[in-house]
Amino acid sequence: MGRAGSRIATSGARHHRALDLEAGETYDCPVCRHGQLEVMALMDAYACSFCRHIFEANLEQQTIHVVDGVQPMGWRWQGWRWQALHQGRTDITVTLWVVGLALVVLPAGIVALGGYLFPPLENTTEVNWSLVWALITLAAHGTMVGWLMAEHYQFPVYVLAKIRLRRFLERLPG
Ligand SMILES: [Zn+2]
Repeated sequence: MGRAGSRIATSGARHHRALDLEAGETYDCPVCRHGQLEVMALMDAYACSFCRHIFEANLEQQTIHVVDGVQPMGWRWQGWRWQALHQGRTDITVTLWVVGLALVVLPAGIVALGGYLFPPLENTTEVNWSLVWALITLAAHGTMVGWLMAEHYQFPVYVLAKIRLRRFLERLPG
């Protein structure tokens, strides 16, 4: 498990090999980058030993695709690593960034602007509440958009954390 991968990493030499999932070679899972792809018996598919995502392979094009994901995700085998395929995802990505930035910047900006245009009548308070409120808004919306981004890009760290949390919750009594 992972011996070939770590040997390549430590020697630094790029050992090119073709994507041949039946040949007993191990391939790191491109989703969590933690488990290895395993052949599923009686099925024309492959599963990750860690995150349990299921993949379909196209050996002619040297690509694999997630078949149990909420969105189409694919990778091309480069001979030593996976490269993400981004076909048809650019529109979603741009929209997500525009909406995300608007969600983070606009509400907090409006709150801050309101506090600037209509300052408290008594200037005795030492705390600028409109600024505090703007920062809370910024943090709340930032968290929300950050989660959306993590779901969209499926960052390996995020996927790992999600799996660990799920396993932890499964182990809890009751
Ligand atoms: Zn995995």
